[in-house]
Amino acid sequence: MRQGRSNSHFYAYTHHVLSGSFESECRFCGRALDLYNISIISIRSRGWECGAFSRGGWSGAYRVENIRKCSGITGNYYQYYGNLDEFYKNNPPKGKSGLLIRIFFHALSIRNTFRTRFLSPSVDGSETRYPPAALLQSQRRVMSAKGLPGGPSRSQFPTSNILKLMFPKPNGPFRHRGMTNLVHEIGGGKSSTLNKSRDDRCLIHRRVKIIACHCLLFLMPTVEPSQLLTYREQNAENRGRRSISPLARTSSRTVADRATGSHKRKVKLPVEVLAEKRVCRPRRMNCNCPVTQPGPTLASTCGGNAFMLFMGLLEVFIRSQCDLEDPCGRPVSRAIPDREYDFIVVGGGTAGSVVASRLSEVPHWRVLLIEAGGNEPTGTQVPSMFLNFLGSSIDWQYKTEPEDQACLNEQDRRCSWPRGKVIGGTSVMNGMMYMRGAKKDYDDWASLGNSGWSYQDVLPYFLKSEDNLQAGIMDPGYHGVGGLLTVTQFPYHPPLSHAILQGGLELGYPVRDLNGVGHTGFAIAQTTSRNGSRLSTSRAFLRPAKDRPNLHILLNTTATRVLINSTNKEAYGVEVIRNNGQIESFIAKNEVIVSGGAVNSPQLLLLSGIGPEADLRQLGIPVVHNLDGVGRNLHNHVAFFLNFFINDTSTTPLNWATAMEYLLFRDGLMSSTGLSEVTGFVNSRFANAKEDFPDIQFFFAGFLANCARTGQVGERADDGGSNGTGPPPQRMITIIPALLHPKSRGLIKLKTSNPLDYPLIYARYLTEPEDADRLVEGIKIAIQLAETPSLQKYGMRLDRTPVMGCENIAFGCDAYWQCAVRRATGPENHQAGSCRMGPTGDAGAVVDPELRVHGIDRLRVMDASIMPKVTSGNTNAPAIMIAEKGSDMTKNRWIGQTAWKKW
Ligand SMILES: Cc1cc2nc3c(=O)[nH]c(=O)nc-3n(C[C@H](O)[C@H](O)[C@H](O)COP(=O)(O)OP(=O)(O)OC[C@H]3O[C@@H](n4cnc5c(N)ncnc54)[C@H](O)[C@@H]3O)c2cc1C
Repeated sequence: MRQGRSNSHFYAYTHHVLSGSFESECRFCGRALDLYNISIISIRSRGWECGAFSRGGWSGAYRVENIRKCSGITGNYYQYYGNLDEFYKNNPPKGKSGLLIRIFFHALSIRNTFRTRFLSPSVDGSETRYPPAALLQSQRRVMSAKGLPGGPSRSQFPTSNILKLMFPKPNGPFRHRGMTNLVHEIGGGKSSTLNKSRDDRCLIHRRVKIIACHCLLFLMPTVEPSQLLTYREQNAENRGRRSISPLARTSSRTVADRATGSHKRKVKLPVEVLAEKRVCRPRRMNCNCPVTQPGPTLASTCGGNAFMLFMGLLEVFIRSQCDLEDPCGRPVSRAIPDREYDFIVVGGGTAGSVVASRLSEVPHWRVLLIEAGGNEPTGTQVPSMFLNFLGSSIDWQYKTEPEDQACLNEQDRRCSWPRGKVIGGTSVMNGMMYMRGAKKDYDDWASLGNSGWSYQDVLPYFLKSEDNLQAGIMDPGYHGVGGLLTVTQFPYHPPLSHAILQGGLELGYPVRDLNGVGHTGFAIAQTTSRNGSRLSTSRAFLRPAKDRPNLHILLNTTATRVLINSTNKEAYGVEVIRNNGQIESFIAKNEVIVSGGAVNSPQLLLLSGIGPEADLRQLGIPVVHNLDGVGRNLHNHVAFFLNFFINDTSTTPLNWATAMEYLLFRDGLMSSTGLSEVTGFVNSRFANAKEDFPDIQFFFAGFLANCARTGQVGERADDGGSNGTGPPPQRMITIIPALLHPKSRGLIKLKTSNPLDYPLIYARYLTEPEDADRLVEGIKIAIQLAETPSLQKYGMRLDRTPVMGCENIAFGCDAYWQCAVRRATGPENHQAGSCRMGPTGDAGAVVDPELRVHGIDRLRVMDASIMPKVTSGNTNAPAIMIAEKGSDMTKNRWIGQTAWKKW
């Protein structure tokens, strides 16, 4: 990752910093930093320099050289020892950069004040996240010396109280000392400010307030400017004053200034840059709508009664948050749909949501999106709850047929395949990791005859969707900004995440942007998340489009077959079954697009008479087109879970403190997936390290704040046995090596001709011996990783409990691991390839490189099923790219131009 120089770089960086990264390591190189320190980095941007970097405490020292060495940032560095006031005194920052630095600090200090006053220290395993008690006390002393109230109080939780700290007096200058000093400083010092005219002073105050508001919004992204106004207007009324909104006044003044040119700026500040920046202005949300369907409750997803009280309350709080519940923004199922549309999209999952959104951009096209599931439950918006919904009613809950070589310890040797049955599809229950795969993946697709799918060809479609909030620190040229899909790291990282990166470095793997120049290495992954909550493709692509009159959505409606004219082999519609059992059909005048995912897309083609002739005849399905490849080439990554003990007791990471931190700041453990945010791509001895085509991906698990019974800090993670008196167990974390380029291939077949029956899924994991060999090599590298000094600091120790069925083999030898991967197989969730793309003449291909089903006109497939070979990494971003490119090709056919040319 590199530090860039453009304006957006500044925002990306400061956003990252201010959105709450309390890091223990340099994010550029992973070197360890002292805890509880504060430092400032000056970043150059458009001729002015500013920026702040905080470790969130009040004392300590920052190893500036680390940043300098590993980031290559040039510029001024300010080192801070001691408390803020001393810092101001000893290092008076000058000019615009100084101003911004001080404002950032002020905002940070308010945030810290709030954290330390209201949130009890939370233990996340390896260390206390807040300063130790002595430091806390000294902070309290500092705060009371500053005249800030101390001591936690529930009544002080409301956001308005945070605002009171920021704006103690309506319409007045900032009373807080730091802020008042700032105001004076802009004017060139106390006396000179006081000598300025009243108007000038007002202007200065307003500007500082705007910047401060933006800082505050960075820190508390749930607070909207409107809330600031409300607070101040209320206060003004209370005091019998004229109610004037300083923010509104500023903006009207700015407009007037521009119109007349009368106002001469005495102090030129980059206010308008901040004010105009999209990230600083959260979307004004309307929440005055009836609440949506509740879906599975958090308590039920945690396991019922024992979780009822805390998880039930937490759910109430979560659902009361407008940005999470978003009752007015969600797509609504069309009560009375039309009979005819131009395009019908089947499946509103990862890919289908994108396709429907993109096609309905053309105002004269009428688009129908059919989704078997309902709306996203609000709990799914919380990143740490990402596993809760597996096995719930929004999961298709597929099981494979009994496997010969894998999942042998599972009931009937069937592996579980969770898939989202909900608008947004599997993007509503995935781990949100944004991973595009290796360049070679796409170049390989192209070399198989799929022209237009090389890395250079697909990159623009990744960029098209993307709004990368950290573009400035990612590899330049590989990321887009301004797209519908927000991509950023989670706001919070458990300290162990950084230790894993450090461990990767010790193994010789760089910490890097894994979607950039190279694909081998480690990273805290960027995710499809926005403001600390999940960004499914429904939320990213459909919600902004839901009010388009030409886009109709049918929820809880299952497509049962594509209607195809058997004479001219043209698709002309879709038959569906509604939740109440009613069967209906809809006509597609232009095309039907199937985006049902790797299981359901081939199923729907088979139900529609497209597939291997013999199989169809056996079930009595009229054959429309004999296409052998449908359902074949099914494959998936396959993994193994290695558990390690660490020196910590196993307490649940979810408690009231974590919850409040999330509810107030969208920060803390609930705003992340714990260690699952980290990933690494490494080479087994079978891979060619020179190719940048690693064959093993590491996933991690631990510190997931997803369920708790009491909400008490320190609640033990187990239920304490029968009397709950024994010592809590030791904490475990998991490293999950996954095989990236499996050779084994499975298939999907229909069980019956009933469209509501689940298809037969034969995963056939590890049927190619090389797959198991590579996975075993991955296990060995994972153990090496755990043995690196950085991870040994946490006392990582492999759980040597033998896998059931492998007890008779010496633990840890190759034969043992060969047994283990077959018995306790991790079936992964990156199913692909069952409607494989390939050129005309390719016998096993289902769609051509334009994603049109071979032999059938007006029918395309767009989702993960078209991948000839699964990408080297998670598959959500590639599915989005496929949908973007597919939509563009569809537009190209029907309006004769590609959107790509327009933008
Ligand atoms: C637990 C888990 C974690 C994951 N983590 C990650 C991750 O961190 N990062 C990542 O990149 N990928 C991850 N993935 C994988 C990724 O989410 C999927 O590859 C991706 O969502 C697939 O997109 P899709 O459009 O092909 O299918 P889906 O998103 O599954 O969409 C298919 C949609 O079609 C609907 N549908 C199906 N049949 C019909 C029908 N007959 N009628 C109407 N509607 C129908 C379904 O209900 C669904 O909404 C994860 C997956 C899982 C299960």
